[in-house]
Amino acid sequence: CGIVGHLGCQNTKGILLNGLAELEYRGYDSAGIAVLNNKDRHIFKAVGKLENLKEKTTQLSLNEFSVGIGHTRWATHGKPTEENAHPHYGSDTYIVHNGIIENYQELKTVLQKDGFTFVSQTDTEVFVHLFEKYQKNHTNNYDAFKSALSEIEGAYAILLITDSDPETIYFAKKGSPLILGLKGDEKYFASSDAALLGQCSDVHFFEDGEFGYVTRNEVHIESVTEKQIKFQNAKLPSDK
Ligand code: GLU
Repeated sequence: CGIVGHLGCQNTKGILLNGLAELEYRGYDSAGIAVLNNKDRHIFKAVGKLENLKEKTTQLSLNEFSVGIGHTRWATHGKPTEENAHPHYGSDTYIVHNGIIENYQELKTVLQKDGFTFVSQTDTEVFVHLFEKYQKNHTNNYDAFKSALSEIEGAYAILLITDSDPETIYFAKKGSPLILGLKGDEKYFASSDAALLGQCSDVHFFEDGEFGYVTRNEVHIESVTEKQIKFQNAKLPSDK
C-alpha cells in the first residue's frame, strides 16, 4: 500500500519511519523496514499500528544506517501476518512491493521446482527468488533485476536492495505510484509525495514502464516502452 526508500548519509531509520507515518492515512494492516550498511543489516516487521514497528526499532541507533526500504501493507495475497509483511528477503535481497504480481502462482511453481523455499503466502516473495535465481547467471545485479522484471505481470511499484551491492537501490514502476526525490546527493523514494514534502528539492514522478537504479552519485532511469535510457548520470541539484 505504501512504499518508502532512502539512500543518504545517515538517519535512514528515522526517515523511513517518518515517511511511513505520512502514508498512514492510506490504511494498512502491517508494516516493515530493512536497513543496511557495509557490515550489518536489520529487518523489522510488525502487524498493526506503525507504533508497534517503531517500538521494535528503538535499540537501533539513528546514525548507523544510510540505505533502507520500508512498507505499509494492505494484504492482497496472504493474511496480514508478520511473515507476510514486507520487506521480503532472501539470502542477499530485500524487497518492498505495492500492487499485485498476477502470474505469481506459475512463477512460484517453477521456483519451487528449482529448489527455492517460500516463507510467506504473498505474491511479492516470488520476485526475491526470481532475482536471486538470475543473480547466479548474470554478471551484475542490475541485469538480474531486469531479467526478473521481464517475467512478472501485473501492477507494481518495487524497491530492491542487496547485501552484495549495499549502496544501490533498484526500482520499477507499472500501475502503482512511485516517486523519486533528490536532496543534494541523497535519494528518497515514496509512493506518494506526502512522504517527500519538505524533504526534497527535486522530485521525479515515475511513469509506467520506468525502472532503473540509484547510487550515491548516479540516477539511472530506463523505460520499457521507449526502449532507451531516459536519464543517466543525472545532474543532481548539488552539481548545479
Ligand atoms: N500484493 C502484495 C501483498 O499482498 C502487496 C500489497 C500492497 O500493495 O500493500 O503483500
